[in-house]
Amino acid sequence: MSHPALARLHPTFGHPEAPERIAVLLGAFPDAREGRPADRAAVERVHAPEYLDVLAGLTKTGWFDYPNTIASETSWEAALLAAGTTIDAAESGGFALVRPPGHHAPPQTAMGFCLVNNVAVAARHMQAEHGIARIAIVDFDVHHGNGTEAIFRNDDSVLYASLHQWGIYPGTGSAEENDATTINVPLDGGAGDEEWVDAFDRLVEPAVRRFEPELVLVSAGFDAHEDEDIYLVDMHVTDTGFLELARRCAGLGPRVAAVLEGGYNLETLPRVIQAALDGFSS
Ligand SMILES: [Zn+2]
Repeated sequence: MSHPALARLHPTFGHPEAPERIAVLLGAFPDAREGRPADRAAVERVHAPEYLDVLAGLTKTGWFDYPNTIASETSWEAALLAAGTTIDAAESGGFALVRPPGHHAPPQTAMGFCLVNNVAVAARHMQAEHGIARIAIVDFDVHHGNGTEAIFRNDDSVLYASLHQWGIYPGTGSAEENDATTINVPLDGGAGDEEWVDAFDRLVEPAVRRFEPELVLVSAGFDAHEDEDIYLVDMHVTDTGFLELARRCAGLGPRVAAVLEGGYNLETLPRVIQAALDGFSS
Protein backbone atom coordinates (compact mmCIF):
# COMPACT_ATOMS: atom_id res chain seq x y z
CA MET A 1 0.00 0.00 0.00
CA SER A 2 1.00 3.58 -0.59
CA HIS A 3 -0.51 6.98 -1.41
CA PRO A 4 -0.21 8.94 -4.67
CA ALA A 5 0.12 12.26 -2.83
CA LEU A 6 3.48 11.11 -1.45
CA ALA A 7 4.85 11.39 -4.98
CA ARG A 8 4.08 15.13 -4.82
CA LEU A 9 4.15 16.35 -1.20
CA HIS A 10 7.23 17.18 0.89
CA PRO A 11 9.75 18.13 -1.82
CA THR A 12 13.33 18.01 -0.59
CA PHE A 13 15.19 20.22 -3.06
CA GLY A 14 17.84 17.86 -4.33
CA HIS A 15 18.08 15.43 -1.42
CA PRO A 16 17.91 11.76 -2.43
CA GLU A 17 14.86 11.24 -0.20
CA ALA A 18 12.50 12.73 -2.77
CA PRO A 19 8.93 12.40 -4.10
CA GLU A 20 10.29 10.56 -7.15
CA ARG A 21 10.88 7.51 -4.96
CA ILE A 22 7.14 7.02 -4.55
CA ALA A 23 6.47 7.98 -8.17
CA VAL A 24 8.61 5.11 -9.46
CA LEU A 25 7.11 2.69 -6.94
CA LEU A 26 3.55 3.60 -7.89
CA GLY A 27 4.55 3.09 -11.51
CA ALA A 28 5.86 -0.36 -10.69
CA PHE A 29 3.02 -1.31 -8.34
CA PRO A 30 -0.07 0.38 -9.80
CA ASP A 31 -2.43 -1.81 -7.77
CA ALA A 32 -1.06 -0.63 -4.40
CA ARG A 33 -3.96 0.11 -2.04
CA GLU A 34 -4.32 3.69 -0.85
CA GLY A 35 -3.54 4.36 2.81
CA ARG A 36 -5.26 6.91 5.07
CA PRO A 37 -3.69 9.75 7.03
CA ALA A 38 -3.00 9.14 10.71
CA ASP A 39 -4.83 11.12 13.37
CA ARG A 40 -2.60 13.51 15.23
CA ALA A 41 -3.47 11.60 18.41
CA ALA A 42 -1.85 8.47 16.97
CA VAL A 43 1.34 10.39 16.25
CA GLU A 44 1.29 11.92 19.74
CA ARG A 45 1.67 8.45 21.23
CA VAL A 46 5.29 8.77 20.04
CA HIS A 47 6.16 12.43 19.45
CA ALA A 48 6.16 15.54 21.63
CA PRO A 49 3.20 17.89 20.94
CA GLU A 50 5.54 20.91 20.75
CA TYR A 51 7.53 19.29 17.95
CA LEU A 52 4.37 18.37 16.06
CA ASP A 53 3.14 21.97 16.43
CA VAL A 54 6.27 23.15 14.63
CA LEU A 55 5.84 20.60 11.86
CA ALA A 56 2.12 21.31 11.43
CA GLY A 57 2.68 25.07 11.49
CA LEU A 58 5.16 25.31 8.64
CA THR A 59 4.02 27.73 5.99
CA LYS A 60 5.08 28.32 2.42
CA THR A 61 7.86 30.59 3.53
CA GLY A 62 8.67 28.74 6.73
CA TRP A 63 10.82 25.69 6.38
CA PHE A 64 13.13 24.13 8.84
CA ASP A 65 16.43 22.42 8.46
CA TYR A 66 16.89 20.15 11.42
CA PRO A 67 20.02 17.98 11.13
CA ASN A 68 19.94 16.72 7.52
CA THR A 69 16.19 17.12 7.27
CA ILE A 70 14.35 19.70 5.22
CA ALA A 71 10.64 20.29 5.67
CA SER A 72 8.14 22.77 4.29
CA GLU A 73 4.43 23.51 4.08
CA THR A 74 3.36 20.11 2.71
CA SER A 75 5.56 18.02 4.99
CA TRP A 76 3.02 17.60 7.79
CA GLU A 77 0.41 16.23 5.36
CA ALA A 78 3.01 13.81 3.96
CA ALA A 79 4.08 12.73 7.44
CA LEU A 80 0.48 11.99 8.48
CA LEU A 81 -0.11 9.99 5.28
CA ALA A 82 3.10 8.01 5.77
CA ALA A 83 2.32 7.21 9.40
CA GLY A 84 -1.33 6.39 8.65
CA THR A 85 -0.46 4.13 5.74
CA THR A 86 1.99 2.33 8.02
CA ILE A 87 -0.82 1.82 10.53
CA ASP A 88 -2.99 0.40 7.73
CA ALA A 89 -0.18 -1.96 6.75
CA ALA A 90 0.30 -3.09 10.36
CA GLU A 91 -3.42 -3.82 10.64
CA SER A 92 -3.64 -5.71 7.36
CA GLY A 93 -0.23 -7.38 7.12
CA GLY A 94 0.89 -5.23 4.21
CA PHE A 95 3.96 -3.33 3.09
CA ALA A 96 3.68 0.48 3.38
CA LEU A 97 5.55 2.08 0.48
CA VAL A 98 5.77 5.52 2.01
CA ARG A 99 8.02 8.50 2.56
CA PRO A 100 9.40 10.37 4.39
CA PRO A 101 11.01 7.46 6.24
CA GLY A 102 10.89 7.36 10.04
CA HIS A 103 13.46 5.30 11.90
CA HIS A 104 15.88 8.15 12.73
CA ALA A 105 13.18 10.35 14.28
CA PRO A 106 13.22 10.41 18.10
CA PRO A 107 10.26 11.87 20.06
CA GLN A 108 11.38 15.49 20.09
CA THR A 109 12.73 16.25 16.62
CA ALA A 110 13.23 15.43 12.96
CA MET A 111 16.44 13.69 11.99
CA GLY A 112 18.10 12.13 8.95
CA PHE A 113 15.28 12.67 6.39
CA CYS A 114 12.78 11.39 9.00
CA LEU A 115 9.94 13.51 10.41
CA VAL A 116 7.59 11.07 12.14
CA ASN A 117 8.70 7.62 13.25
CA ASN A 118 6.21 5.62 11.19
CA VAL A 119 7.03 2.18 12.55
CA ALA A 120 6.87 3.42 16.16
CA VAL A 121 3.49 5.10 15.58
CA ALA A 122 2.16 1.86 14.07
CA ALA A 123 3.50 -0.21 16.97
CA ARG A 124 1.90 2.07 19.57
CA HIS A 125 -1.36 2.07 17.60
CA MET A 126 -1.45 -1.74 17.50
CA GLN A 127 -0.86 -1.90 21.24
CA ALA A 128 -3.41 0.77 22.11
CA GLU A 129 -6.18 -0.05 19.64
CA HIS A 130 -5.77 -3.76 18.95
CA GLY A 131 -4.60 -5.17 22.27
CA ILE A 132 -1.31 -6.47 20.89
CA ALA A 133 1.05 -6.79 23.83
CA ARG A 134 4.40 -7.82 22.35
CA ILE A 135 5.81 -6.36 19.15
CA ALA A 136 9.21 -6.94 17.54
CA ILE A 137 10.60 -4.32 15.17
CA VAL A 138 13.26 -5.68 12.81
CA ASP A 139 15.24 -3.01 10.93
CA PHE A 140 17.50 -3.94 8.01
CA ASP A 141 18.09 -0.43 6.69
CA VAL A 142 21.86 0.15 6.33
CA HIS A 143 21.67 2.91 8.96
CA HIS A 144 20.94 2.35 12.64
CA GLY A 145 17.37 3.33 13.60
CA ASN A 146 18.45 5.50 16.51
CA GLY A 147 15.00 7.07 16.83
CA THR A 148 13.20 3.75 17.10
CA GLU A 149 15.74 2.48 19.60
CA ALA A 150 15.37 5.62 21.73
CA ILE A 151 11.57 5.37 21.75
CA PHE A 152 11.52 1.75 22.93
CA ARG A 153 14.81 1.52 24.86
CA ASN A 154 13.10 1.33 28.26
CA ASP A 155 10.00 -0.52 27.06
CA ASP A 156 10.12 -4.31 27.40
CA SER A 157 6.92 -4.74 25.38
CA VAL A 158 8.69 -3.79 22.13
CA LEU A 159 11.87 -5.49 20.95
CA TYR A 160 14.05 -3.54 18.53
CA ALA A 161 16.58 -5.47 16.41
CA SER A 162 18.73 -3.67 13.85
CA LEU A 163 21.31 -4.80 11.30
CA HIS A 164 23.33 -1.84 10.04
CA GLN A 165 26.73 -0.71 8.82
CA TRP A 166 28.98 0.28 11.71
CA GLY A 167 30.72 3.65 11.73
CA ILE A 168 28.39 5.65 9.49
CA TYR A 169 25.41 7.96 10.14
CA PRO A 170 23.98 8.38 12.77
CA GLY A 171 26.94 6.95 14.72
CA THR A 172 24.83 4.91 17.17
CA GLY A 173 24.00 1.20 17.21
CA SER A 174 26.88 -0.42 19.07
CA ALA A 175 26.21 -3.91 20.41
CA GLU A 176 27.74 -2.96 23.74
CA GLU A 177 24.50 -1.61 25.18
CA ASN A 178 22.33 -4.48 23.95
CA ASP A 179 19.81 -5.99 26.34
CA ALA A 180 16.98 -8.51 26.03
CA THR A 181 14.85 -6.14 23.92
CA THR A 182 17.53 -4.03 22.19
CA ILE A 183 19.54 -6.05 19.69
CA ASN A 184 22.03 -4.05 17.66
CA VAL A 185 24.02 -5.93 15.05
CA PRO A 186 26.66 -3.59 13.60
CA LEU A 187 28.36 -4.94 10.46
CA ASP A 188 31.63 -3.86 8.92
CA GLY A 189 31.53 -2.18 5.53
CA GLY A 190 32.05 -4.45 2.53
CA ALA A 191 29.55 -7.08 3.68
CA GLY A 192 27.17 -8.79 1.26
CA ASP A 193 24.36 -11.35 1.29
CA GLU A 194 26.32 -13.99 3.16
CA GLU A 195 27.31 -11.74 6.06
CA TRP A 196 23.89 -10.09 6.38
CA VAL A 197 21.92 -13.34 6.27
CA ASP A 198 24.38 -15.06 8.59
CA ALA A 199 24.15 -12.22 11.13
CA PHE A 200 20.36 -12.36 10.91
CA ASP A 201 20.36 -16.11 11.56
CA ARG A 202 22.84 -15.97 14.43
CA LEU A 203 21.80 -12.82 16.28
CA VAL A 204 18.40 -11.49 15.20
CA GLU A 205 16.31 -14.61 14.75
CA PRO A 206 17.11 -16.29 18.11
CA ALA A 207 16.47 -13.05 20.05
CA VAL A 208 13.16 -12.39 18.32
CA ARG A 209 12.02 -16.00 18.76
CA ARG A 210 12.81 -15.88 22.49
CA PHE A 211 10.71 -12.72 22.73
CA GLU A 212 7.68 -14.47 21.15
CA PRO A 213 6.18 -11.40 19.44
CA GLU A 214 2.52 -11.30 18.51
CA LEU A 215 3.37 -8.94 15.66
CA VAL A 216 6.58 -8.28 13.72
CA LEU A 217 7.03 -4.87 12.08
CA VAL A 218 9.87 -4.58 9.58
CA SER A 219 11.70 -1.30 8.97
CA ALA A 220 12.59 -2.27 5.42
CA GLY A 221 15.36 -0.07 4.09
CA PHE A 222 17.16 -1.03 0.91
CA ASP A 223 20.19 1.25 1.12
CA ALA A 224 22.50 -1.72 1.83
CA HIS A 225 21.90 -2.77 -1.80
CA GLU A 226 24.92 -3.13 -4.06
CA ASP A 227 23.55 -0.51 -6.49
CA GLU A 228 22.98 2.21 -3.87
CA ASP A 229 25.36 5.15 -3.82
CA ILE A 230 25.14 6.83 -0.41
CA TYR A 231 27.76 8.75 1.49
CA LEU A 232 30.12 6.31 3.30
CA VAL A 233 27.83 3.32 2.73
CA ASP A 234 29.68 0.27 1.48
CA MET A 235 27.40 -2.76 1.41
CA HIS A 236 26.77 -5.29 -1.33
CA VAL A 237 23.43 -6.92 -0.59
CA THR A 238 21.72 -8.17 -3.77
CA ASP A 239 18.04 -8.62 -4.65
CA THR A 240 18.37 -12.24 -3.50
CA GLY A 241 19.80 -11.09 -0.18
CA PHE A 242 16.79 -8.87 0.46
CA LEU A 243 14.45 -11.70 -0.56
CA GLU A 244 16.15 -13.91 2.02
CA LEU A 245 16.03 -11.24 4.75
CA ALA A 246 12.32 -10.62 4.05
CA ARG A 247 11.57 -14.36 4.02
CA ARG A 248 13.23 -14.73 7.41
CA CYS A 249 11.33 -11.75 8.83
CA ALA A 250 8.05 -13.29 7.65
CA GLY A 251 8.82 -16.41 9.67
CA LEU A 252 9.41 -14.60 12.95
CA GLY A 253 5.84 -14.12 14.12
CA PRO A 254 2.19 -14.91 13.49
CA ARG A 255 1.61 -11.48 11.91
CA VAL A 256 4.13 -9.48 9.90
CA ALA A 257 3.98 -6.07 8.22
CA ALA A 258 6.63 -3.78 6.72
CA VAL A 259 7.34 -0.13 6.05
CA LEU A 260 9.83 1.40 3.65
CA GLU A 261 12.74 3.26 5.21
CA GLY A 262 15.78 4.05 2.98
CA GLY A 263 16.53 3.01 -0.59
CA TYR A 264 17.30 5.76 -3.08
CA ASN A 265 18.36 4.24 -6.41
CA LEU A 266 15.30 5.00 -8.52
CA GLU A 267 16.28 2.51 -11.22
CA THR A 268 16.68 -0.52 -8.99
CA LEU A 269 14.33 0.24 -6.07
CA PRO A 270 11.16 -1.26 -7.65
CA ARG A 271 12.98 -4.48 -8.53
CA VAL A 272 14.54 -4.81 -5.07
CA ILE A 273 11.19 -4.20 -3.40
CA GLN A 274 9.58 -6.84 -5.61
CA ALA A 275 12.22 -9.25 -4.33
CA ALA A 276 11.37 -8.34 -0.75
CA LEU A 277 7.64 -8.74 -1.44
CA ASP A 278 8.41 -12.21 -2.82
CA GLY A 279 10.31 -12.95 0.38
CA PHE A 280 7.58 -11.68 2.69
CA SER A 281 4.96 -13.82 0.93
CA SER A 282 7.03 -17.02 0.67
ZN1 LIG B 1 19.17 4.32 5.65
